[in-house]
Formats: sequence, C-alpha cells, structure tokens
Amino acid sequence: MMDMELGWKLERAEGLGLEQAGEIDPWLGRSFYCESCGKDHAVPIRRVIIERGALAALPDYAQERELRSLLLVCDRHTAKAAGEELLGRCREAQLDARLVVLTEDEHGELAADERAIVQLLLHVDAASQAIVAVGSGTLHDIVRFAAFKTGRVFLSVPTASSVDGFASVGAPLILGGFKQTVPACAPEAVFADLALLAHAPQTLTAAGFGDMLGKYTSLADWELGRLLLDEHVCELSAEMTRQALARCVDHVDEIAAGTEEGQRRLMEGLILSGISMLIVGHSRPASGAEHHLSHFWEMRFLQLRRRALLHGAKVGVAAVRMAGLYAQTAQLSAEAVRAAAAQRLADPAFLSPAQAEAAIAAGYGTIADQVRAENAAELDPAGREALLRGIGERLASRWEAVQAVCRSVPGPEQMAQWLSRAGGPVAEAQLGVEPELVEQSLRYAKYVRSRYTILRLQEWLAGTAAQPEVAAGVQAQTE
Ligand SMILES: [Zn+2]
Ligand SMILES: [Zn+2]
Repeated sequence: MMDMELGWKLERAEGLGLEQAGEIDPWLGRSFYCESCGKDHAVPIRRVIIERGALAALPDYAQERELRSLLLVCDRHTAKAAGEELLGRCREAQLDARLVVLTEDEHGELAADERAIVQLLLHVDAASQAIVAVGSGTLHDIVRFAAFKTGRVFLSVPTASSVDGFASVGAPLILGGFKQTVPACAPEAVFADLALLAHAPQTLTAAGFGDMLGKYTSLADWELGRLLLDEHVCELSAEMTRQALARCVDHVDEIAAGTEEGQRRLMEGLILSGISMLIVGHSRPASGAEHHLSHFWEMRFLQLRRRALLHGAKVGVAAVRMAGLYAQTAQLSAEAVRAAAAQRLADPAFLSPAQAEAAIAAGYGTIADQVRAENAAELDPAGREALLRGIGERLASRWEAVQAVCRSVPGPEQMAQWLSRAGGPVAEAQLGVEPELVEQSLRYAKYVRSRYTILRLQEWLAGTAAQPEVAAGVQAQTE
C-alpha cells in the first residue's frame, strides 16, 4: 500500500546517449533505451542538488512530494553537523520529523551490520513515510537497506564526499562477519550541501578521492571480463565512470585544498559513479580487485576486532597496488603468455577445484562457507574446467588486447602521486595493514567476488618471465 501511495513514474526519454555521459541531470527520473548495450536502463533518482545551502531544499522537496512524516537518521557526529539543523528546518516547515541517532559499538564505531539495521528498524513505524540518511557511506547503507525493506522513500544528505555509494542501489552490509552487497534501492533525491561538505574532515574527502581513483582498475577489470569471458559491458556506464573519474583527477588540487569547488567536483564524480552502477544494476564499473582487496582487509580487521579503516582510504591504497600488477602484466610477451596458458591447461591440479577450495579455507576461516557460495560456479569441477579452458584460449588469442587494457591503467607511481596530493595514504603500512596481510590478500581476495579481475589473471601468469630489461624497473617501482 505504502508503495502505491508514495510511488511516482519514471519518464521515458529518447535521444540520451554517450554525449551526456559526463552530466547528471539528463538522466534523473528517466528510463531509456541504451544504444551502446541494447538494454533498457532506468535512473530512479529524481533530484540531485549539489550546492551551498542544499539542506534547506529538503523540506520543500518533502512538501512537494507530500511526505509529511520523516525519520532523520544520523550518528553522534552528523547529528551535530547537520541532523539538528535539518530537524529545525523540517519542523519550521510543519513536517513531522524525528531525529534518530544510531549508537556506536564498543569500539566507538558504526558498521552497516545487523546491529545497526535493527536499531533503525525499531524506529520505523506505520506513520513514517520517508527515511533520510544524514551522514557518510555507512549510514547511507544502513538507511538504504531499511528503507528498501520497509517500502519507505529514501532521501540522502551526504555529510562528507567520502564514498561513491550515495547514489547506488546495492547496500554493502556486513552479515555474519562477511561483507556482501545486498539488493536495496537508490535514494529518491540527494541534497549535498557544499557548506557542510567543506567542513568535513580532509581524511574523508581524501577517502572519496581514493574511492574514485579505484575506477582506473575497476574499469580495466571489467574490460578483462569482456575480453576473457565475453562479459556484457555497457559502454555508456563505463563512459560515465570514466568521466566521473576525470572530473576528480582534473581537480585534484581543489579537492586537496578542500574548497567548495573541489567538493562540488568530487561529489559530482561520486554521484555520477553511483549512477553508472545504477543503470547496469550492479557495481561492476566501479568495483574490481581494488575493492576486493579492501573488503578482504576489512573482514580480517573485523575478525581480529581491530578498528575499521575508511573505505576509500583502503580502496585508494589497493588501487595503487593493483596498478602495479597491471604494469607488470603489461610487460609480458605474447609468446610467454601463450606458453603459460598451455602449461596451465595441461595441469590437472590447475583444472581441479581442490586448490581453490584449499585457498578459500585457508584465507577465510570462519566465513569460508559464504565465500564458497559466492564462488560456486568455479568450484564445480565440470563448470570450472570449461570456464578455465575458455579463458585460456582467449588469453592466448587476445593477448594484445589484454595488454592494451593493462596499459590503459596509469602506473602505480602516478596513482600514488595523485593520492598523496589529495592527502590520502598511498601504502598499506600507512593504514596499518601488515605485509603478511597484504601478501594473503593478493592470494585470497579474488574470491571475495566471483568477478574477473587482474588478481584472477595472475593465476595464469605467476612465474611467467617479463621482457627482462623493463621488468626489473617495474618490480622496483611497485615495491
Ligand atoms: Zn547500456
Ligand atoms: Zn567504493
């Protein structure tokens, strides 16, 4: 019933295409036929306001949509930074608004887990029409999931440009200690107040920039999927992500300085990246091996009850590491790769799932069952062999194209330079991720998702000699 009352219709649009890939507004509230992939896409976000004073536009929007009863969901910090002010504005507009401040766990942290979700659900009653996330990424994921499950309108007020998940549809949740992405919904409207964002800690802004820098490697990973598994790629979605990334890299100094202009560019990039995921219905354009590494570190920290790290800070560092793998892989000759592929395909141990089974058990311990389920296709003996034969053949016949993808990723030094200009960490040691954990993640993180990435490509290439004169240089740079 609630859905019917609160529903609104997407507008069918003609003539939208790659020319608009760098813009946000043309896509909002539209469904359209995609020339580049031949599928229908929809963007259920109706409005995105990125400007100074955007907070004040929320009560007007709620009135326009006849949403009279709102839950404003914050944490301790964002209640002070924005929640209380928004509550005052909603009440001035005669709206029935309540502030819900989610409490932290024993480490003083808020995670998107069962504990936080239940806390929020206890406040959702029959009268609540909309749930407003007032906070950064984690808070949005808690609200996104709760709003979706209860059929309430989800509105977004980002308080920091820290992550690209504001506009996306999936909720990355930690369930039983395993990080998984659960289907949920995009916000109906986003109110990003530049005055608020400019006051966010620079570490959060740098994390948002790190999340964006990871698109270099996630986009390349998606291309590997296309080349080696004939995976479906939507060129419009990929181009949106590229343009979102360019907007951030081109304005790295303004972003570093924390100016409103820098915040605007970064938030536009983050939202556009979210829309690129929305249209294809999954996070493939924006999340590859760099995210799998980050998730692996996060889950291990959780198992060890260590203090969580910022998502974008981890992704940025992991993207530097993956750029190193791409640079090394680009140096391999076609002959060496063909020989390696033939050798692997003749090796019964490589074709059998036993090694992957053992790796998952060793790498994931108590959460190995969830990881096995994620990799079911690859662990099925017959399925695995067919999959690997297909990849091996394409690897041999399409190596030049794979190499071109590898070369499209900026080198690790360039990636590290951008990150440090934005004020973010560039190496695992700065995050407190020990060399042993780095080494384990390089071996096991590929199983976090059943998605083709540069990490999975390494299975074929380990021990393959690079063209010697350049290989030594790349090795030195990536250490
Ligand atoms: Zn498409
Ligand atoms: Zn991310």
